[in-house]
Amino acid sequence: MNEAANNQVPAVPPSARAGKHVVLAGLGAIGAPLCELLTRSEYIGRLTLVDYDVYEAANLRGQAGVDPADVGMTKVFAQARKARRLRPDLVVEAINARLEELPMGRFRAADLLLTGLDSKGSRREANQRAWWAGVPWIDAGVKAEGRLVRVSVFMPGVSQPCLECGWDDHDYETLAVKRPCLKELPAEPTGAPAYLGALAAALQMAEAETILGEDPGRVEAGKEILVAPRSHKLYVTALRRFSSCRFDHETCQVHSLECSIGGVSFGELYEKVARQLPDLRPLRLGVPGMVFVRQLKCGCGADKAVFCLDRRLAPGALACPRCGAEMAPVGFSMLSAVSAEDLPPKLRDLPLSAAGFRPGDWVTVRTESGLLAFETNPNE
Ligand SMILES: [Zn+2]
Ligand SMILES: [Zn+2]
Repeated sequence: MNEAANNQVPAVPPSARAGKHVVLAGLGAIGAPLCELLTRSEYIGRLTLVDYDVYEAANLRGQAGVDPADVGMTKVFAQARKARRLRPDLVVEAINARLEELPMGRFRAADLLLTGLDSKGSRREANQRAWWAGVPWIDAGVKAEGRLVRVSVFMPGVSQPCLECGWDDHDYETLAVKRPCLKELPAEPTGAPAYLGALAAALQMAEAETILGEDPGRVEAGKEILVAPRSHKLYVTALRRFSSCRFDHETCQVHSLECSIGGVSFGELYEKVARQLPDLRPLRLGVPGMVFVRQLKCGCGADKAVFCLDRRLAPGALACPRCGAEMAPVGFSMLSAVSAEDLPPKLRDLPLSAAGFRPGDWVTVRTESGLLAFETNPNE
């Protein structure tokens, strides 16, 4: 055995490898130590890491799994490098973006979604995506005050409890307002000691092992585990489906659409879907979690017709042609679903990629039997 192999976690023998695919979003105080635990798990063959941030020197004290060599590096790159070094047989994908910018095809391909996110808004986005894709989701959080750790397990389904089932009006009022402004201040550091994040990661890993290793029918749905390590307390609560929950709990029926976003226009995509649903008119296509922007306006008075998904508007596209300042989407031009007839031919014929589409994005259609999703080719 060579020296490099001696320094790595041995590859799991193929017969025993479950080869499960896990998406981990958020690589902070919880996600960084969790990434290492996932790398060492015999159940996992593929790991997708999602974060938009960079490690800073301040993270060294509060976050296990972060080294001085990681400072200044994007979190996904730093953790992917560690994971590959530790286990070369693991397929690791690093995505430097926010969870909510990811095409839905990325979630559908996964067996489990794990999150350690810094805002309520992002957790809500994770909740919606887990349900749309029908992927089990384990979320965790820590609280410096009282030294508390929380791990929540959600098993998407119409009658299953979701994150929002436990929310009250105050939770909705304190959601960070994100649109139409695309920039957001980073969340305040929690100030929690590193052991809390590491404990949350370990508890999350234990729940992940149950979901990945067990017969799915045996996994109990919807629970919250609360641990107060300094007072040696552990509470487990069975979550309840709240009948008036503001989230509709819908999971999508997904169909693959033989369509790559590079060479196809929105008009052509629309035709493809229309052919599959000949009885459904008018037909309106949405993209889950996003809206279409059709007009930008500048403070100087200039405006511009566009056709782009709001979360994929490139900074270059926002520059005012008259004064160079950043233009903003016009509220009334934003639509959650569009028909090909809503667009002038020039915009209808734009390649999907120019409208902000990415490989694996879904377009959805509301029908009497629920929400249908059509997935563009995830690989290009
Ligand atoms: Zn709910
Ligand atoms: Zn201007």
